[in-house]
Amino acid sequence: MSADLVISIGDLAGHLEKERSFAGSRDVSLRLGDSTVKGPIAVTGVVTGTIDGVQARFRVVANARLTCVRCLTEWERQLETESLQHFSVTPDEDGYAIVDKEIDVGSAATDELALSIPATPLCREDCKGLCPICGTDLNSDPCDGHGEDSGSPFAVLKDLFES
Ligand SMILES: [Zn+2]
Ligand SMILES: [Zn+2]
Repeated sequence: MSADLVISIGDLAGHLEKERSFAGSRDVSLRLGDSTVKGPIAVTGVVTGTIDGVQARFRVVANARLTCVRCLTEWERQLETESLQHFSVTPDEDGYAIVDKEIDVGSAATDELALSIPATPLCREDCKGLCPICGTDLNSDPCDGHGEDSGSPFAVLKDLFES
């Protein structure tokens, strides 16, 4: 099921300019903080021969479930990222390995997508977050403060109802 992102490159490695396009998907389960990507990632791209192996230029698309760090609202967003990665028989630390004349583009694509998950998602740029005292979502229901109304008779009633 994920075999289509393991690509045989025996005829490409070392052949400059020779290339082949590919497309496939793979099921992943990624998490960063409260944000998750669960399900298939779609990968499309081109593998090209280089002097010591191949390079893959690809695009990854997946649906992420994000949680706003301020108000905890959850929503779905499509993540999309593009990348160029090198594969060789003896990869350096930034590259991926060619094993048995095959490359696993799916694993490179999964790594790249993981990097594109936002670390501190905001439902919107100016999200006001939750009131630290009563937990009201300040975006939809402006809380007018808890210190200022303590002198009013209603504050006493409110305390009674809340206890
Ligand atoms: Zn928010
Ligand atoms: Zn409040």
